[in-house]
Amino acid sequence: MIKNSYLQEVYEQVKKRNPGESEFLQAVEEVLESFEAIIEKKPEYQKAGLIERFVEPERFIQFRVPWVDDNGKVQVNRGFRVQFNSAIGPYKGGLRFHPSVSASVIKFLGFEQILKNSLTGLPMGGGKGGSDFDPKGKSDGEVMRFCQSYMTELYRHVGQFIDVPAGDIGVGAREIGYLFGQLKRIKNEFEGGVLTGKGLSYGGSLARTEATGFGVCYFAQEMLKCMKGDSFEGKTVVISGSGNVAIFACQKATELGAKVVAMSDSNGYVYDADGIDLDAIKDIKLNKRARISEYVSYRPNAKYEAGHGIWGVKCDIAMPCATQNDIDVDDAEKIIANGAMALVEGANMPTTAAAVAKFQEAGLLFAPAKAANAGGVATSGLEMSQNSLRLSWTFEEVDARLKDIMVGIFHNAYDASVECGCEGNLVVGANVAGFLKVADAMMAQGIV
Ligand code: NDP
Repeated sequence: MIKNSYLQEVYEQVKKRNPGESEFLQAVEEVLESFEAIIEKKPEYQKAGLIERFVEPERFIQFRVPWVDDNGKVQVNRGFRVQFNSAIGPYKGGLRFHPSVSASVIKFLGFEQILKNSLTGLPMGGGKGGSDFDPKGKSDGEVMRFCQSYMTELYRHVGQFIDVPAGDIGVGAREIGYLFGQLKRIKNEFEGGVLTGKGLSYGGSLARTEATGFGVCYFAQEMLKCMKGDSFEGKTVVISGSGNVAIFACQKATELGAKVVAMSDSNGYVYDADGIDLDAIKDIKLNKRARISEYVSYRPNAKYEAGHGIWGVKCDIAMPCATQNDIDVDDAEKIIANGAMALVEGANMPTTAAAVAKFQEAGLLFAPAKAANAGGVATSGLEMSQNSLRLSWTFEEVDARLKDIMVGIFHNAYDASVECGCEGNLVVGANVAGFLKVADAMMAQGIV
């Protein structure tokens, strides 16, 4: 519930302007609630219409993406790019290819990206894009033709100093390669810093693939240490999803001494009491692009259950790394009743607002996505730096920088929560810490 009248007025306007866009409204409401802590001390924001400008994208692009499938049939998808805020740097944010992609989903992700990118301390504005195209079950040729068609429109909106896309759900190394190839062909220019998540042979950064999942664990490790004097050592962990973020969160949590006992995909989940065999998951998901149900053929003692029951599995640390609104109040109640101590968001907005409130009431440590999963975009920022410098850092060098950034983000969010009078509330802390830098830049740049 937003109480401040200025913030309320802004939120009412957002609702009126974006009817039915439930994900976007959910993200805006959560952020505006956090601003209660600062808004009265900053009357200049209202005078400058700052929050009204902050919640309205600078530009929103929607376009047709026609392509021809393997049967010769013409398919039409919808493409999007939101360029939300460029106050502190060029727009930066991933591309998502999934049938659930809509204007609302892209706007919620782009809006959150502004604060996340600011938290990294690197000069990156907020953007996001994607399409309702579903790469699942498509041939390589179909994915390539789709990516080429998508980029044939997107190329005119991107550039290393304008807007720098990357991957997200459904967009991994294969898709980034096809997108980059088409962009290079249209522009007749090898502009490395225009896309991140590139392959190592054409300007990618070591450790970018691992960065989001590793970063989630570095953030969680610092949170456990500073807020509970604890660590991953000996903890049982459940991770939803089995894509890029989930896989490398599983790897790092295991390296830090935890046992991951369950992972999922959109059809069901696997439970392995002996600890997930990550090589099996990587083979199923990265090599074969198959379903997680195949895991039991690699590990006969493991169990597969269809459906969404993963949050009923007992754990100390729950890490949703799949998609938005994955954990509702019922799931939250199960996680709490099973005695978990922490909820760490690897995916974007994986917890509904009511479920977040449940976790906070129950006193669990809560690591919000904007802060906890910022390691991916931070390392994309490091990829851009290497492209500008025309050199490549070692894996260890990038990983060490990533770790420093994640530790720094935890402390910024924590310190901001103290300044806002709600010590340990990292939701408020991350929103406020990310926002103050953007707000300062927007104030300095006048009414634009
Ligand atoms: P991937 O496409 O690699 O993996 C997504 C995983 O989530 C898959 O296991 C997928 O299962 C599952 N999933 C997707 N949609 C649903 C759904 N509706 N219900 C249940 N499971 C679902 O994506 P990423 O790992 O890259 O992204 C995961 C999350 O992390 C997203 O929220 C993304 O925005 C966020 N994120 C990603 C970053 C990155 O660097 N990649 C950076 C920061 C945040 P299936 O295969 O069955 O579809």
